[in-house]
Amino acid sequence: MSAEHKILAVFGSTGSIGRNTLEVVRRHPEHFSVRYLTGNSNADLMIEQVKEFRPAAVAVTDGEARRKVRDAVGEQAEVLDGSGLTELAAREDYHTMVSSLVGFAGLLPTTEAIRAGKHIALANKETLVVAGEVITGLLREHGVQLVPIDSEHSAIQQCIVGEPAQSVARIILTASGGPFRGRSAAELEHVTPADALKHPNWSMGSKISIDSATLMNKGLEVIEAHWLFDVAPGDIDVVVHPQSIIHSMVEFSDGSLKAQLGVPDMKIPIHYALTWPDRIAADYERADMARIGTLTFEEPDRETFPCLQLAFDSLQAGGTAPAVLNAANEVGVAAFLRGDIPFPGIPAVIADALDRCDIRPADTLETVVEADREAREFAEASLPHYSSVTTTRT
Ligand code: NDP
Ligand code: MG
Repeated sequence: MSAEHKILAVFGSTGSIGRNTLEVVRRHPEHFSVRYLTGNSNADLMIEQVKEFRPAAVAVTDGEARRKVRDAVGEQAEVLDGSGLTELAAREDYHTMVSSLVGFAGLLPTTEAIRAGKHIALANKETLVVAGEVITGLLREHGVQLVPIDSEHSAIQQCIVGEPAQSVARIILTASGGPFRGRSAAELEHVTPADALKHPNWSMGSKISIDSATLMNKGLEVIEAHWLFDVAPGDIDVVVHPQSIIHSMVEFSDGSLKAQLGVPDMKIPIHYALTWPDRIAADYERADMARIGTLTFEEPDRETFPCLQLAFDSLQAGGTAPAVLNAANEVGVAAFLRGDIPFPGIPAVIADALDRCDIRPADTLETVVEADREAREFAEASLPHYSSVTTTRT
């Protein structure tokens, strides 16, 4: 089947998902080309990307990196500052935004792209976590198709294709369990950022790697699944599957279970999101089931890793609670990476913010942005309470 050629804007092109996206483009130049790229601090990589992919314009948020990129690329591409993120998102002349900035920074550019009627290939799960209600409303209003890149949600999307919507009984998200699976709470008090960044199966950016270690990544994915597939929180389950071969499962009303499988390689769900609703042949690594041999499953340890339950609780609370959860998590993760708080301080900072920040309806972008700002401020101020391994507020 011949598919149309798609012109992409890759937001966060210097990151892990961005680089994988450009590898998909590199392998399929007949199907994809790049018009816009954005990055933050990695000037050298952005310069290489401009030379190879010849975008019309790039946005580089960090000032020093931007000057370096400008000097190196000359007339080859327009080089914009951070305000270029929303400006480029709103431009007419591209087809699909690959939304792969990390964290809350992804929300406003993605919103602009939806308003401009673009297709969205979404890696930035935080956009749906903080503003699920606003985003789903905008998608309907602008008739925009959003296809998830997150491997679990790509799996679910592939499982439900062709099925009547009412037949979905339960979504089962698989989780690798992260680098600390099986550890006790006492052991977690002394883990370092370097330990936490060593993910067993996936190579990813630092923020999502820490989220995987705390199980917050799965919590964020529960919220993402709720908004993407309109499934009630009580019908979303999580099962730990350390091999990361089954990317997720859907149980139907007749008891049938469908799963989607493959090697843990983000190029595959990126390729699917970009080629959807077609399937375009590609030669990514195949899963050799006989060699893989064993697939195992276990319950997540919700007590040792409280972030998963905090995410479920925030989804149940509704309104701006997931935005508060997300903001406090971003603050907690950054503080852990700087060495300012121990690993168990991350859920402690989040629980505190959820307890103490006001929760309001989250039906406008402005309320979400304000909730994020307040929660971030609150969480930053609370950090000194969690600087030692004693994680109860002192
Ligand atoms: P990375 O940290 O590797 O990349 C983030 C990208 O965003 C980089 O291009 C970075 O620029 C840029 N960036 C960082 N901060 C800002 C900012 N404040 N303003 C503008 N740009 C910024 O992240 P990942 O690629 O790992 O993850 C991206 C998103 O995809 C996340 O939401 C994550 O949860 C999701 N995701 C990732 C998966 C993975 O395998 N990595 C899997 C599923 C989902 P620079 O590098 O130049 O500083
Ligand atoms: Mg995932």
